[in-house]
Amino acid sequence: MTLAPERASLPSAEAANPAVSLSCRHCGATYPLSPTHVCIECFAPLEIAYDEDRLRTVTRESIEAGPRNLWRYVGLLPAGHVAERRVSLDAGWTPLRPAPRLAAALGMRTLWVKDDSANPTHSFKDRVVSVALTAARELGFTTVACASTGNLAQSVAAHAASAGLRSVVLVPHDLEAGKTVSTAVYGGALVAIKGNYDDVNRLCSELAGEYEWAFVNVNVRPFYAEGSKTLGYEVAEQLGWRLPGQVVIPIASGSLLTKVDKAFGELGRLGLVEPTPYKVFGAQAAGCNPVASAFARGVDTVAPVKPSTIAKSLSIGNPADGPYALDVARRTGGAITDVTDEQIVDGIRLLARTEGIFGETAGGVTVACLRRLLDEGRLDPDVETVIYNTGDGLKTLDPLVSTGGPTATIPPSLSAFEAAGLGDD
Ligand SMILES: *Cc1c(COP(=O)(O)O)cnc(C)c1O
Ligand SMILES: [Zn+2]
Repeated sequence: MTLAPERASLPSAEAANPAVSLSCRHCGATYPLSPTHVCIECFAPLEIAYDEDRLRTVTRESIEAGPRNLWRYVGLLPAGHVAERRVSLDAGWTPLRPAPRLAAALGMRTLWVKDDSANPTHSFKDRVVSVALTAARELGFTTVACASTGNLAQSVAAHAASAGLRSVVLVPHDLEAGKTVSTAVYGGALVAIKGNYDDVNRLCSELAGEYEWAFVNVNVRPFYAEGSKTLGYEVAEQLGWRLPGQVVIPIASGSLLTKVDKAFGELGRLGLVEPTPYKVFGAQAAGCNPVASAFARGVDTVAPVKPSTIAKSLSIGNPADGPYALDVARRTGGAITDVTDEQIVDGIRLLARTEGIFGETAGGVTVACLRRLLDEGRLDPDVETVIYNTGDGLKTLDPLVSTGGPTATIPPSLSAFEAAGLGDD
């Protein structure tokens, strides 16, 4: 953990920033807003704490008057209160698309896809990175770093390039080619580690003890995590300021799932939506299912696993927010489940063929888990549901190559076309 007490608190803490401190999620100890993420009393993770009165100055109108990106919610975020200092590629305000054909295929009444593949680097990570790098810049850092399963690396490299920050990103060496190329192009340092994500993460924590850099998912993680709340706010606003009855969210570290719940809770508490009940469902790959397996066994502790799945963006075997994700699913009456690699590929194809949305493997996990939850009667087909597509399928072509060739390969002649049975019947 990098402690830089001499640069202590955020310069924006005086201004409009509603964030006032970091607080321990376990024992409640508080710390100044600074680049640190672990409680020194009990080693539990820290989280941003807000001044409730400042949050209450946010209205639907003030949000609607904001930019068409995640910064419209700045009044509910811990950084970026001086617009010129934001690190932004205009992430957020992605489409919430009705999915009637997917709903019909699954026997559901009302289904929406929150399509976060529309972000600048084509995954939801642009939200968390924009907030984290903005906080990093406000805290005085000039180098930003991260451990990543791929999407985070690309987003950090892109945002750092746009802001003139130096970036150092660490990834497992067996990353999909598409993710490597599309990270390297931005010009920061891209370091491939001979190990899995959990090895990469361990090295990253060690580096964080050595260098005064902003490590997106280490010392500035509390700021990073708050960016995920915008995926909750946006869905509520796009539904006309109300909460959906059910949501299905993919889990890697579990942070996104817990922050969508936090966002829904805040909106209700602040009177921005009617605080109607909702159920949160989590989706994992069977080849990396530590949270789903704890849920199935009815236990509170999340036992680490060694990941082996095509869903590499979700391959975190030792998820930091796993226990909190379990809490959310249980408290709201949801569930956490998992699906095989074969079901993931089917999920990707089903979403593409019914709605014209090509999601990455994480999207396939979500669609396939939705189907499983319906089959098992855990998710109600008659209750309005939102599923999160968190990344673009072009990033993870490899697992589909064997299933995605041409319908026919023919010579350039009409007769060959007809002989292949491709005309009208
Ligand atoms: C990182 C990621 C997630 C989930 O992230 P959490 O670590 O659980 O917050 C989901 N989908 C994609 C595509 C991701 O890259
Ligand atoms: Zn503590």
